[in-house]
Amino acid sequence: MTITQDSVVTIHYTLKDDEGTVIDSSASGEPLAYLHGHGNIVPGLERELTGRNTGDKVSVRVAPAEGYGEYDKELVQSVPRRALRGVKDVQPGMHLHAQTEQGPRTVTVTRVAGDMVTLDGNHPLAGKHLNFDIQIGDVRQATEEELSHGHVHGPHGHDHG
Ligand code: ZN
Repeated sequence: MTITQDSVVTIHYTLKDDEGTVIDSSASGEPLAYLHGHGNIVPGLERELTGRNTGDKVSVRVAPAEGYGEYDKELVQSVPRRALRGVKDVQPGMHLHAQTEQGPRTVTVTRVAGDMVTLDGNHPLAGKHLNFDIQIGDVRQATEEELSHGHVHGPHGHDHG
């Protein structure tokens, strides 16, 4: 079947940065099932998969603007350590939930220097080109229920528990 709006698409994927480092991959585990045309994957990849078919192998390079966004320096802030009450042993690389001027976000601790902590609210992949290698598996029409929820049910999909 061909991938169109409202298809349920099962893919195996490998995502690399421009240095060739694997950032994420389904190769050693379950494939990913997603609802096509609903913004469940990054826009640049979704567009490239439109019109492809079961069995196709697709390599796509997605620019930051169509991936996880451009890197925004405004989202980097330094705060005194005492502003992070309740967080023990603050270390670079930690992810924290924080209230920011842009609302609640997940931020990454990028630097700890003396009493000051630098927090970065950018997505970890912001500003990066995304190099996807995709193998397209099953393609089917979404059910009414899946469309009303905006995500896939069943194997490899959303589990409502
Ligand atoms: Zn659902």
